[in-house]
Amino acid sequence: MEENTVCIEVRTWLQENWHADRSLLDWRNLLVESGWGVPCWPQEWYGRGLPADMEAVVNSEFAAAGALGVARAGIRMLAAATLLEHGNETHKKKFLRRILTGEDNWCQLFSEPGSGSDLAGATTRAELKDRQWIINGQKLWTTSAHHAEYGLLLARTDWDLPKHQGLSYFVLDMRQPGVEVQALRQMNGHASFNQVFFDDATIAPEYQVGALGEGWKVAMTTLAHERRSADGFRNWGKAGSGQGAIYDEDRAENAVLNEPYKWYPQRAGRVDLVLQRAHESGLISDARIRQELASLLILSETANWTAQRARAAQQLGRPQGPEGSLGKLAGSHIARAAARVHTSLSGAEVMLKGEGSTMEGVIAEILLSVPATSIAGGTDEIQRNIIAERVLGMPKEPRFDTGPFRDVPRSLPRNS
Ligand SMILES: Cc1cc2nc3c(=O)[nH]c(=O)nc-3n(C[C@H](O)[C@H](O)[C@H](O)COP(=O)(O)OP(=O)(O)OC[C@H]3O[C@@H](n4cnc5c(N)ncnc54)[C@H](O)[C@@H]3O)c2cc1C
Repeated sequence: MEENTVCIEVRTWLQENWHADRSLLDWRNLLVESGWGVPCWPQEWYGRGLPADMEAVVNSEFAAAGALGVARAGIRMLAAATLLEHGNETHKKKFLRRILTGEDNWCQLFSEPGSGSDLAGATTRAELKDRQWIINGQKLWTTSAHHAEYGLLLARTDWDLPKHQGLSYFVLDMRQPGVEVQALRQMNGHASFNQVFFDDATIAPEYQVGALGEGWKVAMTTLAHERRSADGFRNWGKAGSGQGAIYDEDRAENAVLNEPYKWYPQRAGRVDLVLQRAHESGLISDARIRQELASLLILSETANWTAQRARAAQQLGRPQGPEGSLGKLAGSHIARAAARVHTSLSGAEVMLKGEGSTMEGVIAEILLSVPATSIAGGTDEIQRNIIAERVLGMPKEPRFDTGPFRDVPRSLPRNS
């Protein structure tokens, strides 16, 4: 479909249907019915089957009309992308619509105390007993688990196969007695993460996603989408400013669900603030600062182009290239470079939070949040390993974990 035709269609639909006095849920249900909420999803699953490049076109019509979109807070879109690719009819029917309407929230139950980078070393176990999966073990760093109705769970179903082959992927109901969520507070003062304990939690067999033992493949889909979306963190947690009941409802929802992500723009280094800060501090004419500023802005702009190239390739239906790992690594460099520039611009004041501090503590929060960028979604070292092995074709790391997982040396107590 031509861009112009899409513009006219969506604009006409918005003129007829968008009213700021509707309830948020009514509006999102209408959006889901219309296919305009996720226009590039398949027609049978609430979309219009449009090519990926039309998403930006539709979004700009929504922005021009001041209309709100489907729910996007948290990791719901990672859940949706994974279920669209690997889920069966039951999963899609039960979960996709409520993801878009905002009725269910999700979390990603991957990392464990002994397996973050080494995700395939997960030891949370799933055992089939009396036609139920019984889950025991622990996950860690689970963002938003305290808000989640469902979790994307990677668990070990076979200890005698090599580690990547003994994993399966499930949707776990977080609101059940066998699941305990405990909040963790990080050094920037926010409490985005949790540790999650499973004590005979249960999953019905129909909520296994993908084939038994193919959990790794499904998890790779979730992670590929996570890395691809990493360049969008600058805008996470920001609320709209429209006037009317539906916007108030949206802001109220945002205040709760986006609370764990409020610091995500700071985590990305706030490159958008450096010029303003350089002017305010009077250091804009300092030769050394100008060099630092120029190199940061160049780095940031080239990373934007790489992200655009990746989106263009995706829109042309090309398989995911190295851009996900390159973009993620570039994001870490940029965040660290931005934190250095902010420190040069503000001096010792960067250490102060609270009343009277530089930009009400935003600069201090940048310094305390930037380290997360090189850890979340796969550390810098892991991205370098991926680029070295899969893109540059360099020799693989020596492996000592190729036999049955039961026999692989592990530092933590064995679960089996
Ligand atoms: C903001 C944020 C949000 C997160 N949200 C979630 C979430 O919602 N769900 C979830 O499951 N997890 C989440 N995580 C956890 C994240 O995925 C892990 O922290 C990450 O994968 C690293 O694992 P780890 O912390 O166990 O570190 P480790 O794996 O113990 O790594 C420690 C150090 O060793 C290095 N290292 C490890 N292996 C290698 C290797 N083979 N080669 C070279 N160096 C290596 C690492 O790079 C790192 O520097 C989140 C983390 C952050 C910071």
